[in-house]
Amino acid sequence: MLYLEQRGTGGDFSVPPDIVERKVCTVSGQLPGRYCPGTIDEVFIAGTEPTDTCTIHRMYKIDVRTLMFANRGTPRQYVEKKVFEVLPPIFDRWAAREGIRVPPGSALLANSRVVHASYPGIMNPGFAIMSLEDGAVFKIDPVLRRMYQDVAVAVAVGEEYRFVKLYIDGRLFSNLSGRSEVKWNLHEGEHDLQLVGKCGDRLVRSGIVHVTVYR
Ligand SMILES: [Zn+2]
Repeated sequence: MLYLEQRGTGGDFSVPPDIVERKVCTVSGQLPGRYCPGTIDEVFIAGTEPTDTCTIHRMYKIDVRTLMFANRGTPRQYVEKKVFEVLPPIFDRWAAREGIRVPPGSALLANSRVVHASYPGIMNPGFAIMSLEDGAVFKIDPVLRRMYQDVAVAVAVGEEYRFVKLYIDGRLFSNLSGRSEVKWNLHEGEHDLQLVGKCGDRLVRSGIVHVTVYR
């Protein structure tokens, strides 16, 4: 640069016509959402500007006694809304070192691979899949090894439910017995996820979450 200045040319730099400016979340680089703490103005070549709203800053209702998701049985005075940075699982250890608060069960969503999804962060059911919303769409990362392309299926299950199992595409995927989260390796196709459990003598089923995974 100094050498160029010595040559005395310089002058105004005119912005090419196909440049657009967008306000983006400072962490995700996506369009700012309601819970993003900061934004910056960023320039893009037209057509490459972000179109998705930030998937990293999310609000959850937390039971302050357990620091887990609040559920229907949580007394109101113990429910607190907290904004978390939901980073892809690969950042878990780094986030822990940096003291970044993660939602209960952490690694809720491998959201760097999310093409389009809106999550029911504030939903408050007693028997439901929390981390994936019906209609969520994922894309297989072409670079990352497939074995690492997991999403966490986090569930909210009230104490009155027992023998809770996760079924994927009609087949038993995992016995949840006490766990609030299992990892599911993404593979392309249309998938239906559902919880089945018992409440007293009754067999109960959660709502079905339909997920599409593109290659
Ligand atoms: Zn954000």
